Amino acid sequence: MVGTGSDILWLAAAALAVTSASLTGFGLRQQRYRGWRWWLAALWLTTAGVAAAAASTWLVVPAALLLVQWPVFTLIGVRRFHARARLPCSEHTDWAVLVVGGLLAASGPLWAADSTLVALVPALAAAAVHLYAASLLFCGPGGRDGLPLQWLGVVVALVALVPLPSAWPGYEATASIEWRAVAAVLGAVVMAFVALTLVFERTERQLRDSQRRLRVLANTDTLTNVSNRRHFHELATLALRADAAGSATLLLFDIDHFKRINDKLGHAAGDRALRLVSSSMTEHLRAHDVAGRHGGDEFVLLLRNMHVRDAGGVAARIVARLQEQAAYSTLPRLSLSFGMVQVQAGEGIADALRRADQALYEAKRQGRSCAVTALGAEDRPVFGESRPLGLTAA
Ligand code: GH3
Ligand code: MG
Repeated sequence: MVGTGSDILWLAAAALAVTSASLTGFGLRQQRYRGWRWWLAALWLTTAGVAAAAASTWLVVPAALLLVQWPVFTLIGVRRFHARARLPCSEHTDWAVLVVGGLLAASGPLWAADSTLVALVPALAAAAVHLYAASLLFCGPGGRDGLPLQWLGVVVALVALVPLPSAWPGYEATASIEWRAVAAVLGAVVMAFVALTLVFERTERQLRDSQRRLRVLANTDTLTNVSNRRHFHELATLALRADAAGSATLLLFDIDHFKRINDKLGHAAGDRALRLVSSSMTEHLRAHDVAGRHGGDEFVLLLRNMHVRDAGGVAARIVARLQEQAAYSTLPRLSLSFGMVQVQAGEGIADALRRADQALYEAKRQGRSCAVTALGAEDRPVFGESRPLGLTAA
């Protein structure tokens, strides 16, 4: 090929080389995505094919082979990128189509004696390979990646059809490979953009997922699966702000003689006891209540829109459920002591917790396994009547 056509092809090859190099540079950091290497291979081989088509008519066979692979390599890349979403047909079929189609697409010299077929058969074979890949991309995985892949399918179909008129008998035979090369460049550039879109979309999704996981990890006590102390404070503060002043009750409770369980049965049994307490507590939560592990064997519960005189019933139900669950485990009888306060208007969660801690201390002092309400201010606490929770300490 000489003259203007060749110049355009060299220019196109250079543009594609720049695209391929940029994606390769970007790809060094994206190796973890399966499929990425196939897209890079498709781009570089197409670049080589366009350069071969520009260089010499002698290179028409390798050029035809190099130009026909990119839709199939792109498809294989998509299969691997979406390893979980199955595309129609299989990779074996892709290879079979590529080998047969590729051999026919490069078969120009075979038909050289019959000038009517010399360009038509290879061009039709190349078009068939493109249309195969286009149809699979079009029906490819759904979800967020479905639309860019459908667009790519449309582009691949256009790339398949554009060179056909130039291969019709009567046209110059070599024009067909030029058209195929130009169409391949346009298609490969679109493919590069689609590949980037898929990778960016997935990176962003993974980032969002790991942020969500991190947030859960930062907020949750991993042993008991309830909020940790910091997150409880945040949620409780928000709840107090949102509700009518003085409408919430705070419960702080603790396992009685928990150290004995650790000492006699081991730390793992202690952990099981903590999980049991936590599940007994959460079973009695209403959707808007806030629960957390305050630390060690202490748990905390903010009962919204509940008066402290009704909170004793909640404490009794938690203990009853705990006993019921413990009966099915190898753990000894567990008892709990509760400190309860009505959160005062304008009182912060830290202040209410200090008062609840005084009540809890009083409950321990009175012999444990009971619920004590603290009334009055922190510096002058008055304790209400203790409510026995029907259990003797283990
Ligand atoms: P009291 O009736 O006065 O509460 O006596 P206690 O033995 O329960 O004493 P305390 O509440 O101070 O003991 C808390 C113990 O909890 C101390 C610590 O070894 C244990 N502990 C803290 N965190 C964990 C944990 O995550 N797993 C286990 N197994 N034990 C823990
Ligand atoms: Mg304890």
